[in-house]
Amino acid sequence: MEQFPQPIRKPEIKYTKLFINNEFVDSVSGKTFPTINPVNGEKICDVSEGDKADVDKAVEAAKEAFKLGSPWRRMDASKRGALIYKIAQLMERDAQYLGSLETYDNGKPYMNAYVEMLFSANILKYFAGCADKVGGKTIPVDGDFMCYTRHEPVGICGAVIPWNYPVAMFSLKLAPALACGNVIVFKPAEQTPLTALYMASLCKEAGVPPGVVNVVNGYGPTAGAAITGHPEVDKIAFTGSTEVGQIILQAAGATNIKRTTLELGGKSPNVIMDDADLESAVAWSHEAVMTNMGQCCVAGSRTFVHEKIYDQFVAKSKEMAEKRTYGDPFEFSTKNGPQVDKDQYEKILELIESGKKEGAKVECGGEAAEGKGFFIKPTVFSGVTDNMRIAREEIFGPVQQIFKFSTLDEVIERANDTQYGLGAAIFTRSIDTAMMFVQGVRAGTVWVNCYNAPNYHAPFGGFKMSGIGREMGEYNLSQYQEVKTVMIKIPQKNS
Ligand code: ADP
Repeated sequence: MEQFPQPIRKPEIKYTKLFINNEFVDSVSGKTFPTINPVNGEKICDVSEGDKADVDKAVEAAKEAFKLGSPWRRMDASKRGALIYKIAQLMERDAQYLGSLETYDNGKPYMNAYVEMLFSANILKYFAGCADKVGGKTIPVDGDFMCYTRHEPVGICGAVIPWNYPVAMFSLKLAPALACGNVIVFKPAEQTPLTALYMASLCKEAGVPPGVVNVVNGYGPTAGAAITGHPEVDKIAFTGSTEVGQIILQAAGATNIKRTTLELGGKSPNVIMDDADLESAVAWSHEAVMTNMGQCCVAGSRTFVHEKIYDQFVAKSKEMAEKRTYGDPFEFSTKNGPQVDKDQYEKILELIESGKKEGAKVECGGEAAEGKGFFIKPTVFSGVTDNMRIAREEIFGPVQQIFKFSTLDEVIERANDTQYGLGAAIFTRSIDTAMMFVQGVRAGTVWVNCYNAPNYHAPFGGFKMSGIGREMGEYNLSQYQEVKTVMIKIPQKNS
């Protein structure tokens, strides 16, 4: 594995306090909370637990940093871009450490964590290049006026992020926010507080001025809610469950009509037609639901297979899942680590039991793995029907549900029969079939003959209850900007 540096199995924990105004500080209450290693359920360390008082401090620091005339507001856009680029370079320098820390705290295989660090650095590089290219327009209005628009930063952004891709999610919010000149207060997920603190230290090292980036660790209903309900936070960028997204949207509306981007849950359909390349479709569909132990909002968690190839597809998927290695996430050969915590682990096992009770057939797995950590065996269900709980609820685990269908029209209708609309895919050799599916399915991203090919150049987000707004790519910039229209009267010679 020469392209991957060896992992650091027990990475030094350098930061455990809150990061406010470019300093690591204790929480006002002095409280802490433990972060747990999901491989064995043991405590890694205690981390400062922020709540409303700490969020108030962070918002105050952000407000000061955002004042007109502050170093941040006066910084040339090109310099802002260079700063973001510098953070990316520091991430690349420390990718081995950051990847190891992520694996330690989250449980995901180190190889995946390492790749996530490089992907995240690329997100920063992409937006670094945007910083000095976000100009407005000159508009030919009626009358003797000159009209132009200024694209200004929204102001103080609150970013509430989940635990499944902690550094990627941090970077996805940080990069466009800074590129557009905003300031930001983060609330990382309570399950994975450590990498966000290290990212904050890299922002400081790169030269980001005090107050521009702040990190308040803590729990959702306390620290998270203090951000989403803060009257001086102008915008919320949230990634997480649809249930919490609904709470956040209400809080945003009830306080000060915060601009809100939400990237929420999914139950994404993945359709295999009978003319598909079977081997390739099986392999992509397996990864679509097993990657990151299924802890992926866009997991291909409803696999619809044409009746003519159903039995073959199920047999091959079973074989693949049985071979999937799980165990020590620091081993290069490991494909699946543990689920992130006990709650998730228990929720997944409960849903697996519901699938059995409702009559789906367990082809393999279907239970926890032996040992202390939160491991679940890669699981394949066949004979899944549309009304089972495993067909409707987001499982967020290594569990594949395989459904049978007969026609394209039927499968498009069934694919759309969900509250979600995040991703969708089709495997077929027919361009006509692919195009009809692309047109008919209601989802923010559609893949053809591939699944979850992530790319920071392309927008990502959801239809329906999978969210509001788009992240990544150029589309993302508008979510971190206010448009100011300027009208200037032009004096005329004879008036
Ligand atoms: P998941 O189901 O993936 O754990 P959640 O939606 O529960 O996702 O959590 C995602 C993020 O939202 C976490 O940082 C969590 O602490 C935060 N959060 C949870 N509840 C609230 C809330 N009521 N207000 C604000 N943030 C919250």
